[in-house]
Amino acid sequence: MFELVFRRRFSMAHRLLAGGSAQCALPHGHTETVTVRLRAVRPAPLDGGANMVEPFARAKSRWHHWIDGHVDHALQLGEGDPLLGWFQAAEPERLPRILVTPGDPTTELLCGLFAAKLGAFLAADGGRLACAGLEIEETPTNTVRFEGDPFDILPRRQGWWSRADLSINDLDPAR
Ligand SMILES: [Zn+2]
Repeated sequence: MFELVFRRRFSMAHRLLAGGSAQCALPHGHTETVTVRLRAVRPAPLDGGANMVEPFARAKSRWHHWIDGHVDHALQLGEGDPLLGWFQAAEPERLPRILVTPGDPTTELLCGLFAAKLGAFLAADGGRLACAGLEIEETPTNTVRFEGDPFDILPRRQGWWSRADLSINDLDPAR
């Protein structure tokens, strides 16, 4: 079975409060690479004409548009992080650039959130492709890889990750 593999780099900043690491509790950044693997939901033989698994230009461009325009250079904060309240009070214009997570924004959680978001994009695009796996390389020596249904591992079903829009948080009061 074919897999279509896309890779993208992005920079991010975060901090992790619950893990007890003094180093991770201060805001800091990484340059990460996210790799996604897509499969056709109903695999079929190549047709002898166009010979493509599925037209995937649209799915790919939407995913890369989201990563480049919304995830890249976002600040990732857990929804209980007091820094979030600080931004809401002092610099609300920055909120669209803050990616808010249910609990600490660990790479494990981000794999699940990204897989859910990609699944929402693919479903909105006709559901002909599905995410077979996703991995985030957080440093050259550490990679987290995820396969399966992200909703089996996420703390909550509903959130920006379950919607096929470009959002990275649920802070929009109009929602
Ligand atoms: Zn870190």
